[in-house]
Amino acid sequence: LRVQLETVDLHVYYGETHAVKGVDLPLYQNTVTAFIGPSGCGKSTFLRCLNRMNDTIPGARVEGRIMVEGIDINQPVINTSHLRRHIGMVFQRPNPFSKSIYENIAFAPRLYGASKKDLDRIVEESLKKVALWDEVKDRLHKTALALSGGQQQRLCIARAIAMNPRIILLDEPTSALDPISTGKVEELVQELKKDFTIAIVSHNMQQAARISDYTAYFYMGNLVEFGETAQLFTNP
Ligand code: ADP
Ligand code: ADP
Repeated sequence: LRVQLETVDLHVYYGETHAVKGVDLPLYQNTVTAFIGPSGCGKSTFLRCLNRMNDTIPGARVEGRIMVEGIDINQPVINTSHLRRHIGMVFQRPNPFSKSIYENIAFAPRLYGASKKDLDRIVEESLKKVALWDEVKDRLHKTALALSGGQQQRLCIARAIAMNPRIILLDEPTSALDPISTGKVEELVQELKKDFTIAIVSHNMQQAARISDYTAYFYMGNLVEFGETAQLFTNP
């Protein structure tokens, strides 16, 4: 298995709070890794470090290395907007832009210079990857805000995919969804690992057991268990 990303002695501080305490964790290419542990244990903080999202939180300090293809991305010289194209993120609450379905996906690739023809293709391919194309192809130019919560979340995943990332980070992507939509997103996550490396924060052990290849168990800012999910859940 190839390592796609690896943290080395990663620490996060919010002022006096030491939220992540020296975590060494690999993400293996084309696998799903679930981050689990009790509320407040640092799993979302750790996830947000991986594309430097924590930089946007005032007072947050991130120390240690985050190695991607031989480069430490936790350095001031790294262009974080470029980085976030390659390491996409999906949040707990679906947050589509108040724009059309088409525009939600096309917006960022257009900024990077994609032509109208490229954009049409990117929109169609991304929506097909999240199994949303058939549901929305007749209303691509209508507002995304009219979609159901589950559809909005799949649209947000499509928006991340459209930037052609290597890694997709999902922060409790199903906790605001009903059971049927949750099932669809879980299925989708397993499909996506064929093309991407996935890390997903979950507060639900059963979900982690269902969908992940690797599980990272956090407790009070420490990574206390890491291994293949099948092993961890059969030998507690
Ligand atoms: P989890 O995702 O496991 O619930 P978090 O990463 O959200 O845990 O939180 C880890 C610790 O960091 C907690 O003590 C939390 O209160 C603190 N924390 C999280 N986000 C912030 C923030 N933006 N500012 C200050 N403290 C924070
Ligand atoms: P880089 O930042 O890697 O140097 P650019 O962002 O300048 O690359 O984009 C390079 C080319 O890739 C552009 O011509 C653009 O049309 C195309 N492109 C950008 N985003 C996408 C995408 N999501 N899918 C397909 N092509 C894209």
